[in-house]
Amino acid sequence: MENISFILNKLEDAIIVLDSDQKIVFQNSHSIDLFENNYTGQNITNLIRSPIVLEALENVYKNKETEIIEYNSEYGSLSPRSTNFYNVEISYEKNHLQLTNTRDNYVILMKNITPLKNIERVRSSFIANVSHELKTPLATIMGFLETIRGPAKDDQKSMSKFLGIMDKETIRMKRLIDDLIVVSKIESDEHIHPTKKVNLLKTIDNVAESLKEYALTKNIKIRVNHQLSEGLFVLGNEDELVQVFTNIIDNSIKYGKLNSSIDILAEKIKKQTDYSDNKKLFPQLVSKISVKDESEGIHPKHLARLTERFYRVDAARSKEIGGTGLGLTIVKHILNKHRGHLDIKSEINQGSTFSVELPIAPIS
Ligand code: ADP
Repeated sequence: MENISFILNKLEDAIIVLDSDQKIVFQNSHSIDLFENNYTGQNITNLIRSPIVLEALENVYKNKETEIIEYNSEYGSLSPRSTNFYNVEISYEKNHLQLTNTRDNYVILMKNITPLKNIERVRSSFIANVSHELKTPLATIMGFLETIRGPAKDDQKSMSKFLGIMDKETIRMKRLIDDLIVVSKIESDEHIHPTKKVNLLKTIDNVAESLKEYALTKNIKIRVNHQLSEGLFVLGNEDELVQVFTNIIDNSIKYGKLNSSIDILAEKIKKQTDYSDNKKLFPQLVSKISVKDESEGIHPKHLARLTERFYRVDAARSKEIGGTGLGLTIVKHILNKHRGHLDIKSEINQGSTFSVELPIAPIS
């Protein structure tokens, strides 16, 4: 008996064993924690008041057949502090359980499935978001196709205007799908930490150069500033880091004012970090790249949510200028993979500063 309860006490699931009079004869440690007390010797109704669970229990007492139910603690009071989802399996055990020394036992096994439920919820809301994002441009394209085939069949001028809009919407869908592919790829190997040395100064210079032409369309100057003649090395995946700075600088241009500037500052700073594996805070040299723009700025209430999928301050504006709402989500995932960190500071009418911090590569 000692040995078995030792094992059962190690389990993450809550186990309650009842005798044929619905009296509790055993609770494992997890069940005692969950219900904040040991109810051994008491009737099960002192512990569980949920009608769904009690009804299933009654059925098992009557039919001796296993019942499995999903229990959402919001519907009852299984435990005072629980707001969780449980998978509850109630079974009958005719034979003697070593654990209780009695025959005819009823075993309640409760598995907390809240994390699984949360994943399910995130996944289904993601699918709903993606469908919505794709449906809008698709509906526009279908509408104009119909117009071109019908009323505007012989109107060359309207036709070329509509084809232009359809072209823009198709590009938007393509961009969205490309970003979704990037998100799913990065998510699937987020746990693989990169091991190659990358000079961030070169990465930033290349990204700034590649976006120069786009910036010029709004007469925006990109300036890169640093005093690091020796370079700024991190362990990284070069393509992914290019993506990080492309997304951030591209946003600064997209949301930046006409005739303004973007200042990129690269530096080494000393910081109390938990970038190490053992999660302990200690001062460490960190690379910090700050991208400061002269955009209209973002109200502080939005800042914490900017990296969520499809979160936009002004959805119509973002879509109009070709945004997918995934740029900063991609940045966040790549930085997680690199054990890095994104800090956003912004104020209305004051512009924004997006700062990326990454641990410096060890000297080898
Ligand atoms: P989007 O494709 O819409 O730009 P992002 O994930 O890149 O999506 O950014 C999310 C939102 O954050 C944007 O829709 C915009 O509202 C805001 N944002 C991002 N960067 C800036 C910036 N530099 N200036 C002002 N707002 C910004």
